[in-house]
Amino acid sequence: MIRPTRVPSLLLVPLLALLPFGCGGGGGGDYDPSTQGGTGAPVDVPAGPGELPGQPTPPAPGGSTPPGTTTSQPRVPRNATPPIGLTWKIGYTENAPLSTLQIIYGKVLSLNSALWNATEGQVYIYEVVITDNVGPGTTTSGWTLNSSTITTTDLDILVWPKSSWDLSGVAGFVIWSSPPQFGRTGLIMALPSDASTNTWLHEAGHLIWDLSWSVSFGLEDEYLDGVQDISCVMESTNTPWRFCSAANHTHQTSQPRACWAQILLDYANFTHTDQDKASTSPWTTKVTYNDSP
Ligand SMILES: [Zn+2]
Ligand SMILES: [Zn+2]
Repeated sequence: MIRPTRVPSLLLVPLLALLPFGCGGGGGGDYDPSTQGGTGAPVDVPAGPGELPGQPTPPAPGGSTPPGTTTSQPRVPRNATPPIGLTWKIGYTENAPLSTLQIIYGKVLSLNSALWNATEGQVYIYEVVITDNVGPGTTTSGWTLNSSTITTTDLDILVWPKSSWDLSGVAGFVIWSSPPQFGRTGLIMALPSDASTNTWLHEAGHLIWDLSWSVSFGLEDEYLDGVQDISCVMESTNTPWRFCSAANHTHQTSQPRACWAQILLDYANFTHTDQDKASTSPWTTKVTYNDSP
C-alpha cells in the first residue's frame, strides 16, 4: 500500500513512482522499494490453499436473503452492525470475453469465503460488478506513472491481465489519494488476474477497514519492519488467513497494536473470539458483468 501520508493530488503521479506502495502477496511477493524494477522478490504468486478453480460456483438461488445488512460501499462503515455485506466494483483493464470475467468472479468467491471466516462471520462481499475494457493497452507500471490513463471514479478494484502486470516483486497493492482521485473512496486495490486468495485477502485488509490509527487508512503491512508475525495475513507470508489479535500478535514497529485490537477499537459492534472461523457458510456473492463486445 502507499504510505498513508496525505499528498496533494498534483504530486501524486511522481510520488507513485517513488513511494513504497506494494503489498505482500503469497510466496514472498512483498514490495521492497530498493528492488523495484530490479532483482527483487519473485513476482509470481502461488495459488493459496483453497484457491478455487477458474470456474465460479453457481450463484445462490434467487430470493435468498443476505445476512445482516448490506452497503453499496466497498469499505465497512465504522458504525456497522455485523454481519455486513460490501459491494465491490471491479474493472478489468482489457476487453475480454465473459469467461475471463467469470474467472475474476471465481477469485472473488474464494476471497469472500476467506474473509467471512477471518472475520468470524461478520464481513462478506455482498455483490460485485465486473466491467472490462476500462484501460486497454495499459500496463500496471504505466498506470502508476500516469494514473489519468484509467478512469476509476466508479471502481474500487483494478485487475490487469498477468501479461500487463509488470511491477517486479509486487503481488498486489492498495493506493490512496486525497482528495479522491482513485476509485469511489480514494482507494484503489490493484491485482494481477492470477492473484492468489492470499493476496486478495491481504489487500482486502488494507481496503475494507476504515481505521483511526495514524499508521495507515486501514490495516498496515506487517512486513515493513521485517517478517516477525506469522500469525497474520498482513505479514508477507500471508498465512494463515486471519488478522492477528492481541492473543497472537508479535510486536511490530510498523504498528502500535494487533490488527484485531485496532479493528475492535474502531468498530464498536464487532467482536473477535480468536476462532477465526465462521459458523455458517458464506453468502454467495452476487455478480453483474458489464462485458463489452
Ligand atoms: Zn500490503
Ligand atoms: Zn496483523
